[in-house]
Amino acid sequence: MTEPLAKTYDPAEVEPRIYARWEKAGVFAAPVSPGKPRFAITIPPPNVTGELHMGHALQHAIHDAIVRRKRMQGYVTLCLPGTDHASIATQLKVEQQLRAEGLTRWDLGRERFLERCWEWTRRYGGTILRQLRQLGCSYDWSRTRFTLDDAYYRAVLETFVDFYRRGWIYRGRRVVSWCPLCQTVVSDLEVAHREIESSLWYVRYPTPDGSGGIVVATTRPETMLGDTAVAVHPADQRYTGIVGGSVVLPLVGREIPVVADHAVDPDFGTGAVKVTPAHDPADYEIAQRHDLPFVEVIGPGGVMTQEAGRFAGLDRFEARRGVVQALAEQGYLVKTEPYTHAIGHHDKCGTVLEPLLTEQWFVRMNELAALALRAIREERVRFIPRRFREMEIEWLENLRDWCISRQLWWGQRIPLWRKRVELTEQNWTEELLPWGLDSYVEGKWPDQGAVVVIERAGTGERVDPRTLMPVTTETAGAYDLSVATADEATGRALESYGFTQDPDVLDTWFSSAIWPHATLGWPERTPELAYFYPTDLMITGRDILYLWIARMIMTGEHFLGAEPFREVLVHATVLTAEGKRMSKSLGTGVDPVELIALYGADALRFALTSLVTETQDLRFRITWKQGGSAAASDTDTIARAEQCETARNFCTKLWNIARFAIAAWRETPPPLLDATALLAEPLERADRWILSRFARATAAVGEAFDRYALGEASWTLYHFVWDEVADWYVEWAKPRLRAGGASGATASRVLRFLLDGILRLAHPLLPFLTEELWRHLPGAEGLLATARYPEPLPELLDPDAEERMATVIEVVRAVRNLRAELGVPAGQAVEVALLGDGVLDDAARHYVRESPGTWLRLLPQRPEGKTVHTTARGVEVVMRLARAVDAQGEIARAQQELTQLERDLARHEAKLANPQFLTRAPEENVEKERRN
Ligand SMILES: [Zn+2]
Repeated sequence: MTEPLAKTYDPAEVEPRIYARWEKAGVFAAPVSPGKPRFAITIPPPNVTGELHMGHALQHAIHDAIVRRKRMQGYVTLCLPGTDHASIATQLKVEQQLRAEGLTRWDLGRERFLERCWEWTRRYGGTILRQLRQLGCSYDWSRTRFTLDDAYYRAVLETFVDFYRRGWIYRGRRVVSWCPLCQTVVSDLEVAHREIESSLWYVRYPTPDGSGGIVVATTRPETMLGDTAVAVHPADQRYTGIVGGSVVLPLVGREIPVVADHAVDPDFGTGAVKVTPAHDPADYEIAQRHDLPFVEVIGPGGVMTQEAGRFAGLDRFEARRGVVQALAEQGYLVKTEPYTHAIGHHDKCGTVLEPLLTEQWFVRMNELAALALRAIREERVRFIPRRFREMEIEWLENLRDWCISRQLWWGQRIPLWRKRVELTEQNWTEELLPWGLDSYVEGKWPDQGAVVVIERAGTGERVDPRTLMPVTTETAGAYDLSVATADEATGRALESYGFTQDPDVLDTWFSSAIWPHATLGWPERTPELAYFYPTDLMITGRDILYLWIARMIMTGEHFLGAEPFREVLVHATVLTAEGKRMSKSLGTGVDPVELIALYGADALRFALTSLVTETQDLRFRITWKQGGSAAASDTDTIARAEQCETARNFCTKLWNIARFAIAAWRETPPPLLDATALLAEPLERADRWILSRFARATAAVGEAFDRYALGEASWTLYHFVWDEVADWYVEWAKPRLRAGGASGATASRVLRFLLDGILRLAHPLLPFLTEELWRHLPGAEGLLATARYPEPLPELLDPDAEERMATVIEVVRAVRNLRAELGVPAGQAVEVALLGDGVLDDAARHYVRESPGTWLRLLPQRPEGKTVHTTARGVEVVMRLARAVDAQGEIARAQQELTQLERDLARHEAKLANPQFLTRAPEENVEKERRN
């Protein structure tokens, strides 16, 4: 039959073997099956440079639990994996390699650099996908997508061209967050705010006649060289006299106006601020309102420009020292205060970011945001927890235009070719016709997807191409020709006519904004798109609700006319026990792969799912081997992870129950009966009780899963298996199984039914362990991963049996407590009377006797002589004191102890009744409380 079950569960041996079985059987594949119910998820694609961290581990423990349950419920279940090309992260890795060789990307040139990036990606990329397999994720690997794959690349370009055709994409000069080292604009998500101890410098700007002046406070004195105004709050009484006048910019000598603007905080510094429109986003906006000029004093490399006068050519931080020194020497520096504030750093390279005025491509968001808002307001996209819905709506209502260009090479290059031409009556035929403007106007362009835009040079004013054929004396002049096309060949052809392609690539988030539909084959109308779109669920952390989730809703609504997913599940952030962010660089990072090696994937998964609650932070406790401090160094290894230990103990418990049952079945393996057949068996009360409890656990676990309350699902399963099956039912079944006969056979069948149900119920949460046990169940067929998930079985409910057995359990606990209080040694029999009108019938008394730890002889009535007593659920438990223990002093001592113990017991029970204690307390504490 089946091979015997190993004594202990060995995840390291079991996990790879089981995973290979699943893959070989094609369990994870989601074939397009029209007419069949389906469930689809696309995972948030991790960076191809990424490695699994605890946040991922949580996210994918949730993903896979949900996906496995749906698969077992009979859905064609797609979980589509993939990675993001992570343009800047990958590019930095390759640039690091180059630096070691004494080279830069410019030395290599774009093409060779991109080859190196591909080489790096093929060699080192995608580690995280292998790690997700180690975690047990049941994703359809045959559909793995990478955002730079040919088809995906094309989909991104089509998106750009479509937006461009609609006039949503425009070129604009704005102050952006700029990394002087990477020499690119960076997105808000890449900005790491770090507290820096710096200074606040107070500088006096004199009035032109020297009679007065204004003192401004600044943290970036070098930018003063680019000041074009001083601003104060309109209501600030101190400055009413000078608003509308002017001051002289020290060191530079330029006369600049004093303006009043509501954006100024009158409580900061002196209430007067310098305005540097080219190097500060807030100042940029003040400049727009007051029509101020822009003076750029810092260049893209963080080096001062010619506009900086004698500071030109200096690094921005050297210039800061120089400016401060010059201000002091010339008597403009009023004072310097120490000042600690948060400064934006580039999270990828650690460089201090510089707000810089640059020309970039932007997407106008009004229409797209309106589409997303509609989908959310109509509840076609629902947020769980619901509070995130309001946050998303608020963000969408206050959306700014999206800067989509990046000065990088690794990514989708902007599919736009441009050329400036001087058109005359004579040359227009040779300038416009050879590359096909006439065909385009006639609708005969080789690629219908292309968009041609002609603007009067430098004005941004669009011109209808037809008005230029022919060019007349009135229309002759300089024009900017732009062609957007997703067709590579068209682009190359344009280059042969003197067009050049835009050098920038698109923001990585531009490509991930189309993830749900592009991974299913869009813009082609694929069967996958028809069958799996809209997907059902998106599981994400809260940090990318705006940058990613909102944008997917926009593009899905725009291109497919339907929401990309129906629900957004926002999961918690994993923090350290002290509530700190887990981060490698902070020394608070925990490597999930190390935890898998220590405890097994199931224990890690269960530890994480059991921590899932409505709250948005989840604390994970780790003890390090070295130093004992909370912060780990590189050499530190994990000594223990309490929550993983709790989960591993649960795995062991389940394993031991199965081992016991399988051993008991060695002689006569019981058949697996369905609920109806089982109810026709001569069930005893304990059987009816555990089947009823199973029915309740099944319903509760399923219901919690439906709400994505995986913590509740995990703990319900845990308590049912441990507290009811292991602690009570198995104990009562033991003597029956030993004795054999009809009662033994029934117990055997009930146990077979239970184990079958428990493994199915537990599989989404403990996939490896349950699959391995399934293999050893007599008569179990196929793989558990594709077996049917248990439906609630109300016919098994038996409130009467539950009520009566609850009393039995309480009475047994009372007897055990009395024994303990009196210090009766284990194994020594005691005499007990159970009194209470009709509450305990003969069957109940039988279970009390059969329960371990009681060692009692039941007396038919209240005993004579010295007794101790307590009550449990209406039953009076009276224990006769042994003759040896009748000294008066002994009784007094015992009673004193009893009072104390009763108090303790009440405290322990209160603790155990508190679910937070169970989820938060270390396993040993829970165990201690439970045993007490
Ligand atoms: Zn950088």
